[in-house]
Amino acid sequence: MRSSEPLVLPDDQQLTPKDHNLAFDGFQYVYPVVSRRAGGVSVGVNLSPNNACNWRCVYCQVPQLQRGAPTPVDLAQLEAELAAMLREILQGDFMRHHVAPDMRRLSDIALAGNGEPTLSPQFADAVDTVLRQVDAFGLRGRLRIVLITNGSQMHREPVRDALRRLAAAGGEVWFKIDRGSTEAIHRVNQVRLTPERLRLQVARAVACCPTWIQTCMFCLNGALPDEAELDAYLDLVGGLPGIQGVLLYGIARPPMQEEGKQVAPASDAWMRRLADRMRARGLAVQLYC
Ligand code: SF4
Repeated sequence: MRSSEPLVLPDDQQLTPKDHNLAFDGFQYVYPVVSRRAGGVSVGVNLSPNNACNWRCVYCQVPQLQRGAPTPVDLAQLEAELAAMLREILQGDFMRHHVAPDMRRLSDIALAGNGEPTLSPQFADAVDTVLRQVDAFGLRGRLRIVLITNGSQMHREPVRDALRRLAAAGGEVWFKIDRGSTEAIHRVNQVRLTPERLRLQVARAVACCPTWIQTCMFCLNGALPDEAELDAYLDLVGGLPGIQGVLLYGIARPPMQEEGKQVAPASDAWMRRLADRMRARGLAVQLYC
């Protein structure tokens, strides 16, 4: 898309928290969602145009997810799309036509998208691009900027440098930890990863930027996590120095992977009990189910 092209909106379609795939015609990298976590409109920035990720979480909602690395991003186009999107949301009719009255606030810009953002070799440049538009619209310090990540690239210095710049602009990291044992992590995220490695990567993130843990809990093959699995998870997240807390959420939308057919939501009562157990360990918990 060239910056001179008009923003084309679906006609008077109201966005709800379940609408996460609504693309603006011609937009490749930037998309709006109504986010229950954010409590308003979140502008997503997608650095994985080929739907590539190094993990394969069973609940993943990326269509046609593939293992691998992202293809290059056209940063000039990304910036033009972000500028057009912010202009339409802040100065245009977007909210009135497409968002329910109680969600009409711009809550954040999220580096998220269809894969792991930090896998992109252009991740640091993309952060700078986002921050430039945040400044252009006078939003620094007034708008949350979030990196949603599986944390797998926190050992890379360019990623950590970018996180420091994100932190200076009031940004946050949301670091995915779904389970606490190597076996359960493999079952849920389909990646070989030890709790020790996760601890190290979280510590690296915390040293650069305020970091929340984000966790998805659900039934898999008809069973909720058992006590041993929950204990391992609670031991892991309860022993992470410096984290802000945990964003605990359930399954709101159908997973897009074949394995997702085995995934079902946990009950709200079960989720609330888990949140209470986490709070009893001194964790700040925000629950979304
Ligand atoms: S880390 Fe995110 S994008 Fe990657 S498979 Fe998991 S949910 Fe999907």
